[in-house]
Amino acid sequence: MKVEKVVKSEEEWKRELTPEQFRILRHKGTELPYKNKYWDNKKKGEYRCAACGNSLFSSDDKFESRSGWPSFTRPISEKSVETEPDHTFGMERTAVSCARCGGHLGHVFDDGPPPTGMRYCMNSGAMEFLERK
Ligand code: FE
Repeated sequence: MKVEKVVKSEEEWKRELTPEQFRILRHKGTELPYKNKYWDNKKKGEYRCAACGNSLFSSDDKFESRSGWPSFTRPISEKSVETEPDHTFGMERTAVSCARCGGHLGHVFDDGPPPTGMRYCMNSGAMEFLERK
């Protein structure tokens, strides 16, 4: 299955997103740890891209990473996110973006718990949580 891409101009994104969403998603911003809406969210449901609505992560894969950011062992599907090397700020990291709109979501590290050993460290502000009733 091919992912249908969402492409919009800088101006369009700026109009549609809140300033905080725009800063994170379109300019690779990072929010403060523990001062974001989902780091401690324990409800069951799905995390979607705040920009395009793409399904990104499930609460089933969320774990307490003590980082202050919502953390997951894997995305909801292999096709929901993309990764690329990020050398900014003198660090060797892997940036994670939404596969549908290219919006920046956070970073992934290989110090996570089983079953994957991965830690997808996400910005709450890049996502919208949809509770499963
Ligand atoms: Fe998106």
